[in-house]
Amino acid sequence: MLDSATIEHLSSRLRGRVLAPGDPEYASGRRVYNGMIDRHPAAIAQCAGVADVVAAVGVGVSSDALMSIRGGGHNAGGLGVCDDGLVVDLSQMRGIRVDPEARTVRVEGGATWGEVDRATHAYGLAVPSGIFSTTGVGGLTLGGGTGHLTRRYGLTIDNLLSAQVVLADGSLVRASEDERPDLFWALRGGGGNFGVVVAFEFRLQPVDSVVGGPTLWPLDRSRDLLRWYREFILEAPEDLNGFFTFMTVPPAPPFPPGLHGQPMCGVVWCWAGPATRAAEVFAPVRALGPSLFGVQQMPWPALQSAFDSFYPPGLRWYWRADFIREIPDAAVEEHVRYAQRLPTPLSTMHLYPMDGAVHRVGRSETAFSFREANWNQVIVGVDPDPALDQRITRWTREYWEAVHPYSAGGAYVNFMMGDEGGGRVQAAYRDNYPRLLEVKRRYDPENRFRVNQNIAQGVSAQEVSPAPPPA
Ligand SMILES: Cc1cc2nc3c(=O)[nH]c(=O)nc-3n(C[C@H](O)[C@H](O)[C@H](O)COP(=O)(O)OP(=O)(O)OC[C@H]3O[C@@H](n4cnc5c(N)ncnc54)[C@H](O)[C@@H]3O)c2cc1C
Repeated sequence: MLDSATIEHLSSRLRGRVLAPGDPEYASGRRVYNGMIDRHPAAIAQCAGVADVVAAVGVGVSSDALMSIRGGGHNAGGLGVCDDGLVVDLSQMRGIRVDPEARTVRVEGGATWGEVDRATHAYGLAVPSGIFSTTGVGGLTLGGGTGHLTRRYGLTIDNLLSAQVVLADGSLVRASEDERPDLFWALRGGGGNFGVVVAFEFRLQPVDSVVGGPTLWPLDRSRDLLRWYREFILEAPEDLNGFFTFMTVPPAPPFPPGLHGQPMCGVVWCWAGPATRAAEVFAPVRALGPSLFGVQQMPWPALQSAFDSFYPPGLRWYWRADFIREIPDAAVEEHVRYAQRLPTPLSTMHLYPMDGAVHRVGRSETAFSFREANWNQVIVGVDPDPALDQRITRWTREYWEAVHPYSAGGAYVNFMMGDEGGGRVQAAYRDNYPRLLEVKRRYDPENRFRVNQNIAQGVSAQEVSPAPPPA
């Protein structure tokens, strides 16, 4: 176990720092984005490079310590940190190298998407990622990655070219289509189950400025808006992305004072096609007479960071999610019902479209299984006040239970808290789960990397329930 002698030994082997209880920086080192998470690791190894990661994993394994891998620290369930174990913290490893000619970027495992966007935007290029700049590259990529460019350029993993991984046995390996294709397959959706990814290499897409932003309508138009949206977005050109949301208008610019504090429904758009076509593309949206038409041309990183300030680190979050194939009228009714009861001003529901390029990759081509889903739905109760934990949790669970029967049956692993049981992890991977188990046995036979949506060793392929038939 991680006694003080082991921690001292680890410190002596690392170029980076090791934080333990009692160190002045331990409190900030163990903090993650979700303020509901309050874990106390025995030690936090702030790795300064690959050699540090190899050393930390070696000490973690030889001392039989529980190990978590921390990328950006954004995970819903706080899976970057653990109680009493060793955190392999990559937050000091944020190097980014763009190759504008080859249109690729190499990113170290602890970088955030804002840092990647800044580096690639200088060349008018971008990696399709999420909708916040503060999210970590590591966790988001390994779970799949949906965001503003998904319909046009696919999931983040569809733009991953290779990964460098430190395995549980301390070896450093490369995974790509040509090298260890089994591991590369599993990394694209299978989370942090297989090792510590010290560097990712992505293909870059030609995205410079976009035309995007929110359009909002009064909540009493939700029923009609959601019915309109479910048809419109799936027929729109793939350069157009728009996620549907219920939200309370924040009391700050760019939202007009007249709307502050009002619960509304809306769509947050991103048009990545030629700006000259934007007026034509958004004409049907304008025709619906939104109370706010906040769509404008902006640099890609501006859209990516537009919501950061409304959701600073330390808020308390409770999440529930599902993939969605269609949104029948009965589901619309449940959405409308729960939208009228948003428990706190920051609580919200998002439906991220994931058709287009995502559908062009087969469901067994990567570990990410729900390729035929049309939306990635997430319900999140959010508030700064611990006294409201119960309220946001109850609303999220009840809302999820009401709409879950209309779902495709599984959820995006990056939107799961980790309290839903192993069955939900299997449901996320369906018929890819047995193959994930095989890869797990090959690369992490002792399940050293298990602070994640765990591909559990004890479950044999036969025990895994078959996938539901495609819609
Ligand atoms: C405000 C907010 C907005 C979000 N928006 C989106 C979005 O638009 N699209 C989307 O797809 N997701 C989104 N997410 C979800 C996000 O993808 C997950 O929370 C993800 O786990 C975050 O990755 P991280 O590296 O920051 O997390 P961490 O908490 O550091 O790690 C999460 C998990 O990934 C593993 N991991 C992280 N880095 C590595 C690595 N280098 N090697 C091996 N394992 C690693 C960890 O072990 C852990 O199990 C959002 C989350 C938040 C809080």
